[in-house]
Amino acid sequence: MAILVFDIGGTAIKYGLVSDEFEILEASESPTADSDANKGSAQGVLSFLSEKMAEYKGRYDAIGISTAGQVDFNRGYIVYGTDNIPGFSDTDMRGIFEEKFGVPVAVDNDVNCAGLGEAHFGAGKGSDYFLCLTYGTGVGGAIYLNGDIFRGDKSAAGEFGHIMTHAGGKDCNCGRKGCYEAYASCRALTDRVSEHFGRYMSGREIFKPENLEHPFIKKALDEWEDEIVYGLISLSYIFNPPLIILGGGIMSEVLLANHIREKLISRVGVNYQGVRVEQARLRNKAGMLGAAYIAKQRLDSLK
Ligand SMILES: [Zn+2]
Repeated sequence: MAILVFDIGGTAIKYGLVSDEFEILEASESPTADSDANKGSAQGVLSFLSEKMAEYKGRYDAIGISTAGQVDFNRGYIVYGTDNIPGFSDTDMRGIFEEKFGVPVAVDNDVNCAGLGEAHFGAGKGSDYFLCLTYGTGVGGAIYLNGDIFRGDKSAAGEFGHIMTHAGGKDCNCGRKGCYEAYASCRALTDRVSEHFGRYMSGREIFKPENLEHPFIKKALDEWEDEIVYGLISLSYIFNPPLIILGGGIMSEVLLANHIREKLISRVGVNYQGVRVEQARLRNKAGMLGAAYIAKQRLDSLK
């Protein structure tokens, strides 16, 4: 038995086959938007998925899809897409593909899938309660509770990027002001540093040893870490989690994870200081493995 998985992000769609032992058998990647004008739109993404499902036909028993945006997990329905994939909102993804390919299809948002991946195969293995946050263009969150994702009333729980840390502050993509991700996302850091130097600097470049000595970068990084920690302090007081997993490419920087851990633990009350702060382990495989996990769950539930 195998599962066909897709991990739809703002810049790339990863896809491949995963075994029922959750081993990645094959993996490829394609840009979400390229020279083909149709791609990058909802229609373009759906036809790309459809093409691959047809290409792999006969080699899978279920399909798992991890996607950016807000997903109603119970219906496998895209409630709200992202700016990167225009027109993705209100798409009955599960309905469309189950009807067309005749196998169970499961859909969830990318951070929930990453959280599930980490829960079963990564930094959360063995824990039945943790928070997972990803820092990239925005900030995503997942609440893993009693051995499953806690999804809330409309499958929208854990949108930590939009808790308000600066009332009346900077504009956020969600249309409100002062959200956590406007200050704590990787983009908030790269925007600030790039503006100062008059050219784009990626997170990876900022963390080069020679750049870490630069006084402006030092200051910007220190303040950015504080912004990250402000949000984590509030989350610690709400959830009192035993474990916080930090994901997103930038969090592979050991120095950063260490600073966040030290700052968080020194700034919360004694009941919250036992929290373990760990880097995500699965990196870019988390989404695909999480997608495989929900697909297997759906397959089993229909048996
Ligand atoms: Zn927001």
